[in-house]
Amino acid sequence: MAGLPILNNEDLETCRRCGGQCCKTLPGAYLPDQLSETQVRDGLASGNLVLAWWDGDPRPERTCFDADCDGSCPRCTASDKLRRAYYVRPRNANSKPGPFDASTQGACLLLGPTGCTLSFDARPSGCQNLLVNRANPGDCHDYAVPTKSFKHFAALAWVPHQEMLLRLASQP
Ligand code: SF4
Ligand code: SF4
Repeated sequence: MAGLPILNNEDLETCRRCGGQCCKTLPGAYLPDQLSETQVRDGLASGNLVLAWWDGDPRPERTCFDADCDGSCPRCTASDKLRRAYYVRPRNANSKPGPFDASTQGACLLLGPTGCTLSFDARPSGCQNLLVNRANPGDCHDYAVPTKSFKHFAALAWVPHQEMLLRLASQP
């Protein structure tokens, strides 16, 4: 997945008034080109990073849209069909220990008393791409990239790296 360099779109004044609702709801997702294998390994080992996932296969060509499908269609029986697609994000502060984080709500471990403890450039792409809703701070759902769900966007980007993620997560 190509990088998504976007201009620093921080709006500190609005975000401080909001109090960081997005960071208290769910940490944003990284894209593969933001982290080296070593960074993923070290992040999982330290507990700062986790593997979250998209339930099912995020690839359109592997998604079965037939509600009556008995599981025998070509999309469902593809040999590389994923049951879930892992991606990397910071840990939710209150999630259970371990490399896998199923939580869908929670405050980001990297949120400090005055906001994100990372520079804009070092933040997960999901955080960089979230657009501030100045008319209604805290109700921010639009992304700079054309996607309704950055989680899906990230899961799709990490599909070619599933084996590596699972290998790193299984390391002691
Ligand atoms: S929810 Fe919106 S306004 Fe609030 S901190 Fe996040 S981006 Fe800023
Ligand atoms: S990495 Fe920073 S901007 Fe992203 S959710 Fe965590 S605290 Fe917020």
